[in-house]
Amino acid sequence: MLRAAAMHIYLDYNATTPVDRAVLEAMLPYFAENFGNASSIHSSGQLGRSAVDAARDSVAALIGAKPAEVVFTSGGTEADNLALLGSVMASNQSRKHVITTAIEHHAVLNAAQALEKQGIEVTYVSVGSGGVVDPQDIRRALRPETILISVMHANNELGTIQGIAEIGRTAAEADVYFHCDAVQSAGKMPLDVNRLGVDLLSVSAHKIYGPKGVGALYVRTGTPLEPQFHGGHHERDRRPGTENVPGIVGFGKAAELAKMNCETDAVRIAVFRDRLEEMLTGSLGSVYVNGDRGRRVANTTNLAFAGAGGEALVIALDLQGISCSTGAACSSGAVEPSHVLLAIGLTADEARSSLRFSVGRATTSDEIDRAIAIIPPTVERLRALSPRTLAPAHAR
Ligand code: PLP
Repeated sequence: MLRAAAMHIYLDYNATTPVDRAVLEAMLPYFAENFGNASSIHSSGQLGRSAVDAARDSVAALIGAKPAEVVFTSGGTEADNLALLGSVMASNQSRKHVITTAIEHHAVLNAAQALEKQGIEVTYVSVGSGGVVDPQDIRRALRPETILISVMHANNELGTIQGIAEIGRTAAEADVYFHCDAVQSAGKMPLDVNRLGVDLLSVSAHKIYGPKGVGALYVRTGTPLEPQFHGGHHERDRRPGTENVPGIVGFGKAAELAKMNCETDAVRIAVFRDRLEEMLTGSLGSVYVNGDRGRRVANTTNLAFAGAGGEALVIALDLQGISCSTGAACSSGAVEPSHVLLAIGLTADEARSSLRFSVGRATTSDEIDRAIAIIPPTVERLRALSPRTLAPAHAR
């Protein structure tokens, strides 16, 4: 049976967030009452159209864009795919080269691999042990045939923030389009597409207390983009399909709340994250913080618990009412260590012993206290069962 929500300690806000009450209330009328198709010319349709337009204004305001530059999608994954495939397909250069990084989300990495299958060359720039890409490495990877750079803003596993504005200047100087996956930074820190110098930027509603299955791609005016679906003329011919009006309305409300609250939320959230991190690293031996602590979004910590299996820890903690995650992916029955943790130099064992804790708007001080009481004995118990030694391959 599922644990009562009130007792549960949810520390996985990077995976998804609960829909804010105000967001839910904004969405509800658009399911059954105001159900019109936003493309219909009658008044019922126009009600949907004006709700979509208002939401577009709010999402644009969150990222400093013009409303016409916002293309609604089914989420961050679709926005990333549209950015990479759409911009590369729109280019009529004969030789095409794309630059991205080794720590991108699979929505970008697998879209890049799909491009490789079409004969496009892709450079995956590596990162240092801090989980931050050196903008000079991006510059060095440029070639005359480079048409696109795609670098994420905040990493989903480590929380590390990339030097997007500097990479944006490099892209502009080289006259190369620049995409940024901002799914994990939107709502956690102020965002401005002009200050960042991006041409394309992905965001997702469910990471900012909005509904799942809706996101957006910012497309700077004048950036060529080939639609990836074929259908009607929705979203200015860039993404066909009847608009998900309730979802988009919810995204708009979530964006409005995020813009209003993100800086004050971040201050409170960082206090919780830091207390959790300090208590866990202080009370247990052989616990290491993965990634650069000085360059992270406020809510994320990724910890290696040497000698304890991450999957087993997630399950043991879940049984005690704590939700957190590993960056591991389960493929064909085997647990693959996180590509991000391997990219920053962890061994497969270290990567498999790492957990991500991500706190959020609804996290309370009491939850952090309870997590601090529950996690150390659970780690000790699993370590005692583990045949591995505690010696880490490297100290961080
Ligand atoms: N990009 C990043 C960095 C993410 O963290 C995620 C989701 O975890 C996505 C893209 C995909 O977004 P969505 O879940 O909306 O498809």
